[in-house]
Order: sequence, then structure tokens, then C-alpha cells
Amino acid sequence: AITADELPFNNSFAELPPAFYTRLMPTPLPSPYFIAASAPAAALVGLDPQDLAREDFVDVFTGNKVAVRSQPLSAVYSGHQFGVWAGQLGDGRAITLGDIATPNGPMELQLKGAGLTPYSRMGDGRAVLRSSIREFLCSEAMAALGIPTTRALVLTGSHQRVMRETVETAAVVTRMAPTFIRFGSFEHWHYRGKQDELRLLADYVIKNWYPEFTGAANPYKELLAEVTRRTARMIAGWQAVGFMHGVMNTDNMSILGLTLDYGPFGFMEAFDANHICNHTDQGGRYSYANQVPVGHWNCYALGNALLPLIGTPEEAEEALDAYRPAFGARLDELLHAKLGLLGAREDDEALFDDMFKLLQASHADFTLFFRRLGDLERDGDLASDAPLRDLFIDRKAFDAWAAQYRARLRAEDSIDARRREAMHRTNPKYVLRNYLAQTAIEQAQNGDFSGVHKLLAVLERPYDEQPENEAYAALPPDWAAHLEVSCSS
Ligand code: AMP
Ligand code: MG
Ligand code: MG
Repeated sequence: AITADELPFNNSFAELPPAFYTRLMPTPLPSPYFIAASAPAAALVGLDPQDLAREDFVDVFTGNKVAVRSQPLSAVYSGHQFGVWAGQLGDGRAITLGDIATPNGPMELQLKGAGLTPYSRMGDGRAVLRSSIREFLCSEAMAALGIPTTRALVLTGSHQRVMRETVETAAVVTRMAPTFIRFGSFEHWHYRGKQDELRLLADYVIKNWYPEFTGAANPYKELLAEVTRRTARMIAGWQAVGFMHGVMNTDNMSILGLTLDYGPFGFMEAFDANHICNHTDQGGRYSYANQVPVGHWNCYALGNALLPLIGTPEEAEEALDAYRPAFGARLDELLHAKLGLLGAREDDEALFDDMFKLLQASHADFTLFFRRLGDLERDGDLASDAPLRDLFIDRKAFDAWAAQYRARLRAEDSIDARRREAMHRTNPKYVLRNYLAQTAIEQAQNGDFSGVHKLLAVLERPYDEQPENEAYAALPPDWAAHLEVSCSS
């Protein structure tokens, strides 16, 4: 086993000129402690999760010591926040330690909450335990759900006080991605009229992550089209599990189409297409339903930034036209899988629409609905339907839709046992409900991290029946109705 000091860091981002980042040291935190590590994330970079609890690793992944080969830096970027140009932002509390070679290419390791940077603006460079637990758990939960995302390797904490609405304590998440370059990284150079830097960045991204476009007639147009497709597919994945990001600003949109920056996110519980998970988002710009057009809007912002490289607005438009079909095709595929349908039929669109109307009218629990739908008997009756039917206030409306669904199942000779198995592999039983996160957070704030460990273990197997963990699949308790999640983190 290696020591943390021997971590084999490279620093590929530092190939770019210094204007793209600032080299700096993390600011140490007093008496750092280990909270949790993700074994699947550790495996990605060839680390033993047991080692991560050791003092030398805790020091490096809190920012208290810098490994010999690490050359820490923070990157600059800009972006549109809530639809408005926000100017320069940047890694205000994130510090990249470097990247580690893996069989699937380099993986960048970044500390979040490791102290002030030149891009901290009014912030303190810190992250609190509460929001760090949420980012840590959700990153790994999303990965287990098969949705493209940045990863979380390890979570550490300190008794250092951090002021938010109340006094909280500091924590650091070490997150990982092949790169954390965002749409806003491109907007940054475009809005400053710096075409050379814009081209350098685009060429860097193409060389490392989209090498198939290197020889294309217009590689920048290909890049925009592919990022647009990936973004559309990622958002289809969100809609299908009821994930709401909460802050889809262009500085939180990954150039690799990864779910990036877990703040006031939420998972849909009582279904409402207009649900807003972020308490700070009063206008609902980032509501569940709006995620789809906002994803497109964000790709437009990227297209606008890349325009000087692409050439004409028509060419950029052509690339952006990929959004609707990519989203539609992926969502359609996911909905067929969620309903356990093998083929596609003409009336399926109507079946899906009616299902969403039904969910909306009764505000049925999104996760439980799909999970229990997998148990529906094709030729069942009211008694066998009870667990599913009971999720609906309007039972008659449910019966009508169930009849429609059953007819559809018979039309393709659907076999219950097979359909059930397939549906349970696509409709998770366990998602990171707000109340589950909140319970683990409150325990952790009292020094007991077992709730975090337990929740991580449950969410690593979201599709499995876990009879001993039935409670983690339950509807939210009454107290959870008052939970508010905001941008404060
Ligand atoms: P977010 O809304 O989380 O995407 O953050 C927007 C910008 O604010 C990013 O540039 C962050 O780096 C920065 N930021 C957020 N919180 C802090 C903080 N506590 N200290 C410094 N910068 C922060
Ligand atoms: Mg951000
Ligand atoms: Mg954030």
C-alpha cells in the first residue's frame, strides 16, 4: 500500500497557460477527522478504501498536507446564474490536487471546501458538514443509479466553525471527474473576447476527451453537438429517476455531460411536475419540468461561447438541434424500460402522458409508484393491486390507467416474472430522499457517522431488495414536509 504522500499525481490541467488557473495551497483545518469513503470510487483510482481512513490520507484529503507530486490549483470560469450573466466566478472553494492515471484515463481529484482562493468572492472557501454529506452521498447514489456524474472519494471533517444561517462545522469532500471543465469555462473567454484562450481550451478538451473529432471538418461544431447530446441524455436520466439538480447554472454544467455540483438537489417524492427543490429558486426556473428546456438553454449558452470557433450561427444551430431528438429518444427508451415494455407501439406516448397526469393528480410518490408497478399482476385484481393503488387519492383514475396498462401488457404477451425482474433493475427502490439525508446529517452533527455509512451502503445497491433496510424505502415522515434546502452550503 502507498502512503498519501506517494499518491501518483500528474497535473494535466496545468498544461494550459497560467491564465486558466491559479496555483495555491489549501488552507489547513484544525484536527481533521475521517468521516466516510466510497469503496467503488476508491476502486476507480486504485485506492484501498481502508487506507483512506488513515491519518496521512486524511491530512491530504483535508488539504492539511500536500502530496509530493501534487501541484494544487483552482480554475477560473464564468457563467450564467439563473439566466443572468454573472461574470467571473471560478473555483471559490475547490482546489484540484492533480489527476491520477486509471485504466479509463486520468481522473482529477479535487478538494471542495479547502479554503479561500482568488475566486472566492464574498465566500469563505469552506463547505459545511451538512452540504458535504449531501454531495458525498448523492454523487455515489447517482453513480449507482447509472447516471453520469462526478464521483465522491472521501469525506473528512473538522470542528472548525463555519457561519451559515447558523454556526456549523467544516468538511471537505474529495470529488473526482476526468475533468471539471464547465460550460462557463468557455463562456469566460468568449465574454472577454479572448479567442486564443477559447481555442486552446476547446482544443484541450477535444484532445483529451473527444479525440474522435480531431480530424473533423469542424471539430468545434462536433464538440458542441456531442456535448448537447450528452447533456440531453443526462437530463433524461434525471427525469426518469426524479432527480432535480436545483442550480442548473452554466457554471454547473459539465463539458463531459456529468451531473456536477450537488447543492440544493432533491429527488421527487409526491409527484408534481412543477416541484422546485431549491428554496432559493422562487421563480422555479429549475423546477423538475423546467430542467429539460433549461438544459437546452444552457447548451445555447455554450454554443454562443463557441461561436467564434464554429463559424456561423447556422452551424451552431445545427449542432444544438441535437438536443430535442437526443432527449426524446433517451426518455422514450427509459420510460419503456420503467414500464417494463419490450417493444414500442403507437399509443405508448398516450400511455405515458396519462400516467404522468395520474401521478400529478394524486401526487403519488414517484419512486414507490414505479417500484410497485413492477409487482403489478398482468391479470390481477383490486386486491393484488392494493399496494400500488393505495398510493393514489383518486383510485378510480388509477383503475382506468391500470386497465390501459394491462391491455398494453397483454398486447405484447408480457410475462409477469420477467417484467418484474427487468423493472426492478430499472426502477430503484432506494433514492436519497431528503429526510434520509437529514437524519444522517443530524446524527453526524452529533459525532455519529454510522448513519452516513449505512445510507451509503443502501444507496450503493438502489435496485436490490434489501429486506433488512425496508425502512429506507419508506414514504417521508410528516416532519420532512417542512424541510427546506437552499443554496446555503
Ligand atoms: P454554486 O451555486 O454552488 O455553483 O456556486 C457558485 C459560485 O460560488 C462558485 O464559483 C463557487 O465556487 C462559489 N462559492 C460557493 N460557495 C462558496 C464559499 N463558501 N466560498 C467561496 N466560494 C463559494
Ligand atoms: Mg458551482
Ligand atoms: Mg455548489
